Amino acid sequence: MKKEFVVIGLGRFGGSIVSELINLDAHVMAIDISQDKVEDFASIATQAVTADTTDESVLESLGIRNFEHVIVAIGEDIQASILTTLMLKEIGVPKITVKAQNILHEKVLKKIGADIIVHPERDMAIRIANSMVSNNILDYLELSDEHSIAEMKATDKIAGKTIIDLDIRARYGINIVAIKRGYEILISPQTIEEIQKEDILIIIGSDVDLHLFEKKLLR
Ligand code: ATP
Repeated sequence: MKKEFVVIGLGRFGGSIVSELINLDAHVMAIDISQDKVEDFASIATQAVTADTTDESVLESLGIRNFEHVIVAIGEDIQASILTTLMLKEIGVPKITVKAQNILHEKVLKKIGADIIVHPERDMAIRIANSMVSNNILDYLELSDEHSIAEMKATDKIAGKTIIDLDIRARYGINIVAIKRGYEILISPQTIEEIQKEDILIIIGSDVDLHLFEKKLLR
């Protein structure tokens, strides 16, 4: 059975979520207060509806409670974002993801019970900045305020060495969770695995340790 989602707010973020969910073969009800936005998505989403989602009766009449996951991608109108989230909580939507504009917005969303809070602009900026400061960091995904997963390119400095030789876990407190080698992916590589030049290492650890490893071993 196809997964069913509701996306509220069809700006750049919400609109991209709708398109990607449809690409991933999900059912998507797309909602916006602006009729123009809704018309843009009429041929993309499974169903596109013009509505003000701060009105509880509107959410009831659209049957939103029957969807397993609702994404609130209302941006600038923080009040509308908060009210919509509150209404969704009240009607009992099982999973609510909300785009936050700032820290204060995030705090309120947490208090009223949003399940997942995302900061797409901030997260993308962190990923891009990290890959800009080092040629070896290809991608960077924040797991918490202090921990991340990084994709780093192996260099001559470590090529030919095994994970044991490098003593990565003890010296840096980080873990190589996978190695991408051409089209192959080695998940949880064994410690005797020899790293090759151009391997892409997928590493989990604290931000401090990840940067230390990158500086000491990859530059
Ligand atoms: P992005 O950066 O993703 O383009 P944004 O952060 O600038 O978006 P907005 O454009 O302010 O966010 O809001 C996204 C969408 O949410 C807009 O298309 C807007 O019409 C819609 N929206 C705002 N208030 C409501 C509401 N009460 N009900 C439904 N949709 C709403």
